[in-house]
Amino acid sequence: MNDEGVRRDLAAVVRLIARFGWHEAVANHCSAVIGGGEQFLLNPIGRHFARMQPDDLRLLPIVAPVVAPAGHEVPDGIDVTAWHLHAQVHRLVPHAKVVLHTHQPYATTLACLDGYEFQMLDQNACRFFGRVAYDREYGGMFMEESAGERVARLLGEHHAVLLLGNHGVMVVGETVADAFDELVYFEHACRLQVLALSTGRPLAVLDEAVAATTRAQWAAYPGDAARAHLDELIAIMDEESRSRR
Ligand SMILES: [Zn+2]
Repeated sequence: MNDEGVRRDLAAVVRLIARFGWHEAVANHCSAVIGGGEQFLLNPIGRHFARMQPDDLRLLPIVAPVVAPAGHEVPDGIDVTAWHLHAQVHRLVPHAKVVLHTHQPYATTLACLDGYEFQMLDQNACRFFGRVAYDREYGGMFMEESAGERVARLLGEHHAVLLLGNHGVMVVGETVADAFDELVYFEHACRLQVLALSTGRPLAVLDEAVAATTRAQWAAYPGDAARAHLDELIAIMDEESRSRR
């Protein structure tokens, strides 16, 4: 996909996150690498997710850490915490071509349970077997570049999801469609776990071998369901905006 396609997809995903109610006021951040890996797109500060259009996304360089005081080097119109987080994750995590960060309610709920481990409770959860990392050291907002480097270390080479304790969730992927599909499946799996926990009954957690097999089945499933998922949702939004005219 060319850079314009990535820009269009990322803006659409931001609007969809608002539609699902997973954003936070005019905060939260989504980004995607373009330009051959030298630059990334990021939503600007203050623009509501529901209004995000492709041209609103800012194009920023992926730069090495600088020694300037925290905040000094943040580009105009860019949220300081987004800059520290996304620039460093894109720089340090090769498979994080796309980074979606939200405070979606069910994943964030699990991130606020003391020591909670994401459970292999259903088919959707198994998709994430061995792919969820945890940041259990919430220390305030990401006001310094070192926070992005710490998050990148936690994501490592294989994790797709980082549950940010007492905060929210970050999902990374190779394409916007892939990361968005994971974000949706992860929230659904978390919703199921919150509902299951709310019953007070013991959880029927699947064996690791079954979870691993199911994860492999997800990965090998024929077709590109993530692409179809996003294309269909974009088509729905386009139809709705045409009917309002
Ligand atoms: Zn956040």
